[in-house]
Amino acid sequence: MLPKLFIITAIALLITNMGMAQSPPAGFVPPPLNPKGVLLKTVPIGSNVYALESSRPPVDNAGFVVGENGVLVIDSHINGEMGKQIIDAVRSVTDKPILYLVNTNGHADHTFGNYVFPPETNIIAQKQTKVMMSPPLEELKKRNLVLVGGDKNAFIDVEKRMPNMTFDQFMEIDLGGITIELHHFGAGNTFGDTVVYIPAVKAAWTGNLLFGDGSIPFLLLGNTKAYINTLTAFQKALDLKIIIPGHGIPANTAIFDRYIDYLKTLEEAVQMAKEKNLTLEETLKAVTLENRFTIPENLSSHDFYAGLHPFNVQKIYLERTEK
Ligand SMILES: [Zn+2]
Repeated sequence: MLPKLFIITAIALLITNMGMAQSPPAGFVPPPLNPKGVLLKTVPIGSNVYALESSRPPVDNAGFVVGENGVLVIDSHINGEMGKQIIDAVRSVTDKPILYLVNTNGHADHTFGNYVFPPETNIIAQKQTKVMMSPPLEELKKRNLVLVGGDKNAFIDVEKRMPNMTFDQFMEIDLGGITIELHHFGAGNTFGDTVVYIPAVKAAWTGNLLFGDGSIPFLLLGNTKAYINTLTAFQKALDLKIIIPGHGIPANTAIFDRYIDYLKTLEEAVQMAKEKNLTLEETLKAVTLENRFTIPENLSSHDFYAGLHPFNVQKIYLERTEK
């Protein structure tokens, strides 16, 4: 167990990084993302499209697509060792060059493996995602220690590797025989959330926009309206069969209604609490998770998923206070 003060300081640092001034509420635990012992399982999603599913959710998932000209990888994971695991998975399927790597957001767990990819790999990120990655590496390592339980060894070899290609709302990549679409539907969990969509197999990788089957959103930015708008646009725009979340269990499109319903219900409940002049503490007690959003007991790292609700309540409460 880590000392409590360390955890609180570390969460505060992490959240500062993510744009939150207030300490998180009781019940919230940071996502346990130490990849030690985690294996990425290669799961074919359709012809030439593969999910890399983490053996210990919510440690990150990833994926890759193979075209006639080369390969595109989705997310580089949290350190070089995991990045190499991704490269090995690609090499077990094809010896074609890895032409592109897409970072779905700017957090360490999606980008710290960038540096192990070959120099010829183009790293693509949404503009805001690139900005998120710009602080000095040592600072980013310090801020993200809380995600790996304070294990300094997790980041010891990490080197900085920034994206060399950016986009704003949309980018299309032709890999030869297969096309990949990159969409930025707006802010959600971060300002630069990117959806990687492969029309040929109707699959989307969502980064942190969706935390997988059985989950609720992680309102890290605290902009509920933006999150709802982003999910609505995403749901409308793409024809989907399978969703590979950045973290957690693959989901189907029912997750959109669950997330949007959750966010709207929560907004209303917090608004009512504010109208009754409840304090933050009273609101956290009053606004409990409704039954239909209950987090399944068997969800790996149940504590993390369950702790998202008080976190979200506080985020909305503070969002309303600031206005
Ligand atoms: Zn993440």
